[in-house]
Amino acid sequence: MEQDDCVFCRIAAGSTDAAILHRDAGAVAFRDIAPKAPVHVLVIPTRHIPSVDATGPADEATLGHLIAVARDIARSEELADDGYRLVMNNGAAAGQSVDHLHLHLLGGRELGWPPG
Ligand code: 5GP
Ligand code: ZN
Repeated sequence: MEQDDCVFCRIAAGSTDAAILHRDAGAVAFRDIAPKAPVHVLVIPTRHIPSVDATGPADEATLGHLIAVARDIARSEELADDGYRLVMNNGAAAGQSVDHLHLHLLGGRELGWPPG
């Protein structure tokens, strides 16, 4: 269900612009507006899900699909050989700032570990 007050629902619906890389029935991928790496893509479920913690058994296929979409984009962005990172921030302490589930795909530079 789309939420009018959710920026990622608006991107999924096409009412807010984004640099879309992929769209299918269950997921949309687009470039992050404030990239933290040369390649920074967000993969979201089309349906509004607030966070990882808000998911349940019925969402497991969706969660897996987000990773599969990110994997394919990593290949098309030529990140697969050098490596890349997939991140989901959950909740305030992790820095989640948009309450619509999203998977970050980061690559194109050396990524420090542990993250801040
Ligand atoms: P979080 O901090 O919640 O894990 O990540 C949210 C991400 O969404 C941030 O990296 C931020 O730059 C990105 N973001 C926030 N608003 C927009 C927007 O309107 N368009 C795009 N493309 N990215 C956004
Ligand atoms: Zn939403």
